[in-house]
Amino acid sequence: ENESSVSITVVGASGDLAKKKIFPALFALYYEGCLPKHFTVFGYARSKMTDAELRNMVSKTLTCRIDQRENCGEKMDQFLKRCFYHSGQYDSQEHFEALDKKLKEHEGGRESNRLFYLSIPPNIFIDAVKCASSSASAASGWTRVIVEKPFGRDSESSAALTKALKQYLTEDQIFRIDHYLGKELVENLSVLRFSNLIFEPLWSRQYIRNVQLIFSEDFGTEGRGGYFDNYGIIRDIMQNHLLQILALFAMETPVSLDAEDIRNEKSHTRGGVTHPGYTDDKTVPKDSVTPTFAAAALFIDNARWDGVPFLMKAGKALHNRSAEIRVQFRHVPGNLYNRNIGTDLDQATNELVIRVQPDEAIYLKINNKVPGLGMRLDRSNLNLLYSTRYSKEIPDAYERLLLDAIEGERRLFIRSDELDAAWSLFTPVLKELEEKRTIPEYYPYGSRGPVGAHYLAARYKVRWGDLGMEE
Ligand code: NAP
Repeated sequence: ENESSVSITVVGASGDLAKKKIFPALFALYYEGCLPKHFTVFGYARSKMTDAELRNMVSKTLTCRIDQRENCGEKMDQFLKRCFYHSGQYDSQEHFEALDKKLKEHEGGRESNRLFYLSIPPNIFIDAVKCASSSASAASGWTRVIVEKPFGRDSESSAALTKALKQYLTEDQIFRIDHYLGKELVENLSVLRFSNLIFEPLWSRQYIRNVQLIFSEDFGTEGRGGYFDNYGIIRDIMQNHLLQILALFAMETPVSLDAEDIRNEKSHTRGGVTHPGYTDDKTVPKDSVTPTFAAAALFIDNARWDGVPFLMKAGKALHNRSAEIRVQFRHVPGNLYNRNIGTDLDQATNELVIRVQPDEAIYLKINNKVPGLGMRLDRSNLNLLYSTRYSKEIPDAYERLLLDAIEGERRLFIRSDELDAAWSLFTPVLKELEEKRTIPEYYPYGSRGPVGAHYLAARYKVRWGDLGMEE
């Protein structure tokens, strides 16, 4: 095992994601000693580059974390020496054969294991998979392929993509990435639930009034609307990231922590003052009706969650940047202290907040007596702020996911039946919006989003938790 080699080929190495996330994550893993002894990183793309030019490009993106400052420069040099580049077309068997030759040289006769990371636009996925699998698969060990979203744009196109991928790969060779699943607090959800006595017993309709999954970005498309306008916020955030979090939150206790057991259980803007509106962006068509904000109420039809609204909200160009899960608990029946709480009983219920980003935190809002002779209650937080509790910088989601793919751990990757289920939830509404060309409700850049989100929540007697008086 020790003598086997692992080659990681970043297909689309000249691109944005490769520079921003993949190479830096690989370096961080290298720094931590998490990569196998015999590893090689290959960049593959059409751009003409020498190994030295790739190294130069990559070196500009590498950083050392606070706790990784020791020998940082030296480690970077060692890492860069293991990085190589091969220029080729994505649909050329011949070019992938040439890559295969180079990979073999680096493997030096050891058992070979190969990971291909497809960091390319979706219209060339299949070409690249076809060539990589037929001309550059590992001769002796495993061959795995990491695929980035979007996985299609509705049920049909996603099924077609899966079918096409499966012509060349088996399901367990395909690693579909949803980088939200690699985030520290999302991973921690199961720990919180299943290894603390005080949460799991409350995790049902009996004690939980509603659950909110909120994603907001404080910037718009900023000249990169080409991709976004074609997809919209429902496909970009809800169908994947928020729904994955919901599934992890609401799933029944898995039989074990085994990947298959877990995967079984989960089965617009106009006219701001200082910022241009969405359709003012030159990369967005003037008559676009692509939603940049969406809110939805979902229900889970089982004994545990019957009647509990799961509210989702996701938007771009809002007042803040965050991703969080909010769990609002029921009122205390016959609360002795109701008259000391003030007028707003809703505001006085317990709320558990899991902030995925930024400033990772878990806090629980409780009612507490304001110190003094009188009897007045206020809401205070039992607060676990990661930056004060843990001195270690949190690894980027891509690090964990890349490491898992290398180790063959599939727990955080999306299986095709899960993907089908996720699309089947959202495809009807997406179709209806597009067939009717429904005009989204406008909201100003930097605002808290359209008022329609409040009406939606009110229909289910819910108030968005992120709009209240915060700590
Ligand atoms: P990108 O920069 O647009 O493309 C990556 C590389 O693919 C480019 O450097 C280019 O390399 C090649 N390429 C681009 N357009 C092509 C075309 N029409 N035909 C053939 N080759 C083309 O993409 P990215 O932002 O790095 O994203 C890569 C993948 O990750 C995409 O599937 C994207 O949807 C997904 N993703 C990206 C992000 C992100 O933050 N950027 C986040 C989530 C998911 P050469 O010209 O050198 O061949």
